[in-house]
Amino acid sequence: MTLKTLQTTLTYQRQKNSSMQLKPCDNCQAIVNIRYRIQQDESQKWRLVCPDCWTLLSGDNPYYRYGGTWKARGTKKPP
Ligand SMILES: [Zn+2]
Repeated sequence: MTLKTLQTTLTYQRQKNSSMQLKPCDNCQAIVNIRYRIQQDESQKWRLVCPDCWTLLSGDNPYYRYGGTWKARGTKKPP
């Protein structure tokens, strides 16, 4: 096996994994298929958090700002 073949194989596996579309919460690292895009502090950086963290961070937070919902795509229903 050549080095190029190995690199191609690794790239393929990476794409295969990303096709699952499951991403970790920016706050607690939980792997979820739905996340909320929010700002939670004065840095005004957008973060994607799971529903649990969203509930925690959105309550009584003067910096809280909602920027949309992220959903996992490509989940096919069984025939
Ligand atoms: Zn979380």
